[in-house]
Amino acid sequence: MKKLSTISWQDFKVLPLVEKGAYFQGEPPHTLIAQQFSRGQLESLCTLATKIKRINKRRDGANFLKTLLSDKRAMLYFAQPSSRTYLSFNAACQILGLDTMDVRDSKTSSEVKGESPEDTVRTFSSYVDMIIMRHPAGGFAERVAWMLAHTNREIPVINAGSGADQHPTQALLDIYTLERSFEDAGGIDGKSVAFVGDLKRGRTVRSLSWLLTLYNDVKIHFVAPEPLQIGSDVLALLDAAGTEYEVTQDFASVMPLADAIYMTRIQDEWDVEGESRAIDTSTFRIGAEHMDTIKPDCAIMHPLPRREEICTQIDNDPRAVYWRQMRNGMWIRAALILSTFGRQDEAHRYYDEYKPEE
Ligand code: ASP
Repeated sequence: MKKLSTISWQDFKVLPLVEKGAYFQGEPPHTLIAQQFSRGQLESLCTLATKIKRINKRRDGANFLKTLLSDKRAMLYFAQPSSRTYLSFNAACQILGLDTMDVRDSKTSSEVKGESPEDTVRTFSSYVDMIIMRHPAGGFAERVAWMLAHTNREIPVINAGSGADQHPTQALLDIYTLERSFEDAGGIDGKSVAFVGDLKRGRTVRSLSWLLTLYNDVKIHFVAPEPLQIGSDVLALLDAAGTEYEVTQDFASVMPLADAIYMTRIQDEWDVEGESRAIDTSTFRIGAEHMDTIKPDCAIMHPLPRREEICTQIDNDPRAVYWRQMRNGMWIRAALILSTFGRQDEAHRYYDEYKPEE
């Protein structure tokens, strides 16, 4: 474990992602990039998420959970559009009794008076015990964590989506969804996962691809039109980790092979001059006519919001797990928040004592 307070920003920001990860495991722990997780940590979070979900089913259990963090407050600082991630974190906080405050538009903060984003966040840290933040600037959450580590009030920072680079908690909920989908099929090891759509600018794919390197014999298919194909930096990480992958434009050839298909929308908010409009994305979609080709137990996922890449006709097919995936986000975020404050053992003890039903 390395301390963020002991390294300069200049030295820190150029570290390889995997090395950066070691700086986020301290006291308090921060959740900033997918590369900070080990497989053991993912498994513990998934187990805890399921226990929280089961405990919460009964009123006495739900009341117990609400006591776990009733002495804490969190700031939801979302300087970029969000509905499901914001609500999911808010709900996760409510489950644990954690009070929340929010700033959802930096135009309503003193940034309009010329305050630096760093000072704005430092101000928030005076009032709360945790900052959950989404920001358009890649790496800004890391900068905030580093900055707080150099004050006398370092509080945990959770990255709820930064620029086009990272969305670590989405990757956690995606892993939880895959774990649950393959519960009776040997887990994630040995599975074939297809990522489809805008892989160049989709931060969820970047974070989840890395987490998949922690599993054995996973094969990844990156399926996208050439201008939206996955970045070479992601491929370099997969090479270094020894994870097998294929880069292709041919979705039809991948559909029957995949155990999970992870669809994404075109991220045209990052366009400079509407260049996405010129890209033919018509073959990077799933319609009802494809369902016979897709494996009978395939997990069809999407981080949402969707556009036309998944037709609504398949929403009630048992393979369409994207609504469940979203709900899983609330449980895994509750598990993450509880673990961040080091109080997970209290939930484990309650679970062992009362053994709530599935
Ligand atoms: N909700 C996801 C994100 O925040 C995916 C998306 O917006 O397409 O990155």
